[in-house]
Amino acid sequence: MQTQTNMTDTPQALCKTLQLNPKTVQSLKVDLNSPFPLKVPKDFLAQIQLNDPTDPLLKQVLPLKIEHQTADGFSQDPVSDLAFNPTPSLIHKYHGRVLLIASPKCDIHCRYCFRRHFPYSEQTNTRHWKKALDYIAQNPSIHEVILSGGDPMSLSEKSLIQLIEKIEAIPHIKTLRIHSRTPIVAPSKAPTQALIAWAKQTRLHKVLVVHCNHANELSPQTAKLFSLYKEAGFHLLNQSVLLKGINDQVSILENLSHALFSQGVLPYYLNQLDRVQGAAHFEVDRHTALNLHNQLRKCLSGYLLPNLVQDTSNPFYKVPIT
Ligand SMILES: *Cc1c(COP(=O)(O)O)cnc(C)c1O
Ligand code: SF4
Repeated sequence: MQTQTNMTDTPQALCKTLQLNPKTVQSLKVDLNSPFPLKVPKDFLAQIQLNDPTDPLLKQVLPLKIEHQTADGFSQDPVSDLAFNPTPSLIHKYHGRVLLIASPKCDIHCRYCFRRHFPYSEQTNTRHWKKALDYIAQNPSIHEVILSGGDPMSLSEKSLIQLIEKIEAIPHIKTLRIHSRTPIVAPSKAPTQALIAWAKQTRLHKVLVVHCNHANELSPQTAKLFSLYKEAGFHLLNQSVLLKGINDQVSILENLSHALFSQGVLPYYLNQLDRVQGAAHFEVDRHTALNLHNQLRKCLSGYLLPNLVQDTSNPFYKVPIT
């Protein structure tokens, strides 16, 4: 993932902006030199409470020294993506759909990111797109292309539209799915104008899967953006990651489902953490996760209950936690 040097993007500057008291900062054991550096867009920053070291959004972005601890069972490629990599930038793991790593960049660096060690520089050069598109064109069993990353919405609007027009030109592709956290973390920045115009006239079915972990990430700005996508014919879904100390409470998850629905988004997946080195402190154990999900089932309408799943090297589907 690319880094951007910005004076306001250091952990010290962030803590200062958020008016965290220096003693608290010290006790958090902030990592000032993380190889996966702090990156937090201003819209997301605006949703973080001042002077609260336990803020659930802050915890998703603040680099801590604990990330250097190695943990058993945690690896660099926890979902074996590289075993299903027919051409660079393309992952063909499940029947009927492929995942195209469209951009190495994200607007935010989530501390738990499962792709923090992914060899993006080898995988995500736009020169790989032709090969990937050829592979898709030659495989009529593929009906859905998923743009992922990094974050595909960190591409320039021009590149993104060039790519989706090429996908649209492949007759057996019926659905374009975009997986992006940009609409949540940088709703004022999301590239939409030309994309919306394209979306209104394409023959493809369109799905936008956003990534929101806590209701505090939603705002009037995200609501406005979702209406725009909805109007252009996108189905809006959300995936979350279950994160210890961030959203591992029934009331938080219940609120999240309601808040998403009030903005026109349906909960899709609640992912058990991918076991990537550096993220072990965020893991909720399987028993607790299942318990939470069972309690959630009791208080939510069926259509507001996300599927609790684990991404593994299973070549067929995301595995339900049971
Ligand atoms: C998650 C994922 C998909 C999509 O799976 P769905 O269950 O259809 O959401 C496709 N390919 C890969 C490699 C994935 O990780
Ligand atoms: S937006 Fe997604 S891919 Fe990017 S850092 Fe966060 S979890 Fe990782």
